[in-house]
Parts: sequence; structure tokens; C-alpha cells
Amino acid sequence: AGEYDGLRAAVTGGASGIGRATALELQARGARVAVLDLAPVDLPDGLVGIACDVTSDESVAAALAAVREELGGLDVLVNNAGISAVGTVEQNPSSEWTRVLDVNVVGIARVTAAALPLLRASDHAAVVNLCSIAAFNGLPLRALYSATKGAVYGLTLAMATDHVREGIRVNCVSPGTVDTPFVARMLERFDDPVAERAALDARQATGRMVSPEEIAHAIAYLGSPLAGSTTGTSLLVDGGVTTL
Ligand code: NAD
Repeated sequence: AGEYDGLRAAVTGGASGIGRATALELQARGARVAVLDLAPVDLPDGLVGIACDVTSDESVAAALAAVREELGGLDVLVNNAGISAVGTVEQNPSSEWTRVLDVNVVGIARVTAAALPLLRASDHAAVVNLCSIAAFNGLPLRALYSATKGAVYGLTLAMATDHVREGIRVNCVSPGTVDTPFVARMLERFDDPVAERAALDARQATGRMVSPEEIAHAIAYLGSPLAGSTTGTSLLVDGGVTTL
């Protein structure tokens, strides 16, 4: 039997990349899984697609009502929806700060707040947030993105403290560079995306980017009852790039 048998999970941004791999992994481990995304179309069999924009209170409230309706409750919430930002503080106008913070940080607060009534009713409640190595390292041209992920780490610690006595664990996974459409779009900004991809692979200590499935396994562990005593932590999955 899988460690998710009988559990219900929701993955924001679950239509692409890490979120999609995570939805499939949780399903493979026995969960019933809802994918909350802007346009959850072309999903693999068995995943429940629910339209959700994490920047809208109304949309998030409707999506969590749909989760309750479709799954009958919620045990594991994966706050994965996130967008990229490239540039120094001079290059990103304040409107861009507002837009990216609203998805990457306020989006997590908004969805978690709406999910808490369902999580409180669960015997195995867990939240897993997507952080990044950008939260802990001075990556070039990532001022805004790093600020959002630093905030995700602080938010993870604070929520872990606020809700531990309600039986809700809160952790985050901090990926290095993961081979997803998010990175493919970033590579398209270069003159030679193929050469840039090879250079990116070569910069990894392992010689390749992290796979979405490797992140999904880390998320699945932190969300599962196997991690029942783990809360308020960040699990680094970066191929060693920040430790070497
Ligand atoms: P992706 O672009 O492949 O997928 C992101 C998904 O989020 C998409 O399906 C998109 O539709 C959805 N989304 C975007 N805005 C949304 C909104 N307002 N409401 C609902 N859904 C929304 O990205 P990915 O690479 O799989 O990244 C997923 C998460 O992992 C992000 O939080 C990202 O910051 C984080 N991360 C990614 C990497 C990487 O190298 N790919 C590294 C570290 C952290």
C-alpha cells in the first residue's frame, strides 16, 4: 500500500513542470489529487483539474470549495504555483515586484488560508511550499525572484509555528535548476538556447539539471505521514550546486 492511500492532495500550478510531476507522484503513491492551475487542461487520467488563479481571493475560495466537493476534504497542500523574474533592482519596475510577489508569496498565504479549515479536519495535514536555492544564495540577476523565495522560507517557518498545535506540518523544498518549461522559457532569452542549456547542465555538479521527478519525490516525502515529526524545514534538492 502507498503512504498516501486514503489521502487527498491539491497541487497549485500542477498543470506543468514540478507541479505536474508532483501530482502524478502523489497519485502513484495512492492519493486522490486535484490540480489547481490557471487552465488545467490536458491532464493525465485521474487527476481532478480545478481552475484557480492564486492571485484572486474569489478564485481561490471557489477552487477550495471545489476541492471539498470533488475530494471530500484535503490532507496535503502543495503550494507550487510560481513565476520567474530576471534582473537587478534597477531593471524590474515596482509594478513587476507587485505582480511577482502576488503570485509567489501572497499566493501561498491566500491558498493556505483558504485551505486551513479543510486541513484542520485532517488527521495527516501537511503543507509543502516551493522555495528555491535563490532564497539562500546571491544568484545573479535574481533580485526580485530571490526576494520572493526568501519570503517563502520565512513564511514556511512562521506557518509551521502557527499551526503545529493544530496538527498541521509546514515545510518547503528548495530546488536548484530543474528542467521544466520555466527554465526553457528562461533559456529562450539567450541568442543560442541550445548552447545555453548545455552550459547550464555543465554548471551542475552532477553534470545535469535536477529532474522534476526528483523534486516530486522530495515533496511527496515531506507531505506524507512518514515525515510526521518534520515541520519548519527546507529540503535542498540542488544536485550539490550550492554546497560545492
Ligand atoms: P512551470 O512554469 O513549468 O509551472 C508553473 C505552473 O504554475 C504553470 O502551470 C502555471 O500555469 C502555474 N501558475 C502560474 N501563475 C499562476 C497563478 N496565478 N495561479 C495558478 N497557477 C499559476 O514552473 P516550474 O519550473 O514547474 O516551477 C514550479 C515552482 O518551482 C515555482 O514556484 C518555481 O519558483 C519553483 N522553482 C523552480 C525551479 C526550476 O528551476 N524550474 C527552481 C526552483 C524553484
